[in-house]
Amino acid sequence: MTLTPAPSAIGTGAAANPLHDARTQLADAVALLGYSDGMYSMLATPRRELTVSVPLRRDDGLVELLIGHRVQHNMSRGPTKGGLRFSPDVTLDEVRALAMWMSWKCALVDIPYGGAKGGVRFDPRSYSRGEIQRVTRRYTSEIMPILGPATDIPAPDIGTDDQVMAWMMDTYSVNSGHTALGVVTGKPLALGGSKGRAIATSAGVVHVALAALDHLDLKRERTTAAVQGFGKVGRDAAVLLSRAGVRVVAVSDRDGAVHNSAGLDIEALARHAEASGAVAGFAGADDYEHRDDLLFEEVDLLVPAAVEGVLNKENAHRVRARLVVEGANGPTTPEADELLENTGCLVVPDILANAGGVVVSYFEWVQANQAYWWSEREVEARLRERMQSAWEQVVETARTRRISMRRAATLMAVEAVASAHVARGLYP
Ligand code: GLU
Repeated sequence: MTLTPAPSAIGTGAAANPLHDARTQLADAVALLGYSDGMYSMLATPRRELTVSVPLRRDDGLVELLIGHRVQHNMSRGPTKGGLRFSPDVTLDEVRALAMWMSWKCALVDIPYGGAKGGVRFDPRSYSRGEIQRVTRRYTSEIMPILGPATDIPAPDIGTDDQVMAWMMDTYSVNSGHTALGVVTGKPLALGGSKGRAIATSAGVVHVALAALDHLDLKRERTTAAVQGFGKVGRDAAVLLSRAGVRVVAVSDRDGAVHNSAGLDIEALARHAEASGAVAGFAGADDYEHRDDLLFEEVDLLVPAAVEGVLNKENAHRVRARLVVEGANGPTTPEADELLENTGCLVVPDILANAGGVVVSYFEWVQANQAYWWSEREVEARLRERMQSAWEQVVETARTRRISMRRAATLMAVEAVASAHVARGLYP
């Protein structure tokens, strides 16, 4: 098992704040829907947030204090759901934004969850497995009061993996006196993980990317793609795109980027990255001088699959792709969205494009609740059906309302969350 490295923030600039971007998108949807300022404020503000100290005894015996957060954005539609991120770039505002995007994502693909996100600010690449285990267990204990299979269900995100989920599940279970398989998703198969979960986000990205290519009348055999990020989303997205016949000509990770206009052998690149820890230096490609040049490559499809804010007002005018499919959460700022829309680039938003991960997390939770396991084929078929249906609905809303796919998706999701809130009524 390997931990996915946390990509550092790329080109976001010191002033970048994903929460500002998430609220701008929300304000836009609220205006289109004609909702009140009160509704905006309620949806712009997390329902519950917990910041915890995570004291860690390092392997050398010294104690270091880390800071962790868990933010539950909205629980009108069900228990909250969302990943846990281990990264030096974690901030409370970032976690708030990611939690809000989870609420919209779950609503858009119609799974019965609200949104949440967690983070611990540290770089797991500089810590031993034992230290990471101690961080995970202490963080889990600290947030126990707001965790649970019917309360809030974490999953992997940047810097965390199935092993981290196993430790979380074990810590929660030992402390509650019974084994609770449904408290986290993205677990190892041996512990009730779902078949197909590991590649679910990437598989969803590729379903949507292929649907978008068809929508634009681009033949996949004649299409080129660049993928930013070679972690748990980008790597398998690149593999699946190339298996589908798309020529993936450029790939980057947090340390560098490579290109080959004849098409990269992605499976060989994955082996090289696994062995050397980076994509740079791959024999079957040339290294880019600057990692982020990949974003401006002349390709049909660009898949940003790293972190927030990589396409922003400083650089979006340089994007030459015809289609952007967001594998990451929040990779395009609202200013960049506008620039891309003006140049005719179709942006398929994160809450649609990368929803495959949480969809299969939902399947994993349903299987844990039923104590009945589905076949890989069943998981794949149900994922495909969900992604296809969400894609069609967003395309239809964008067409009838003459708005971008981002606006259409956000509007549909916000409407679903607001309707649940209104149906429940305001207590007291
Ligand atoms: N971290 C993933 C996301 O951002 C998955 C969340 C989940 O499965 O709960 O969508």
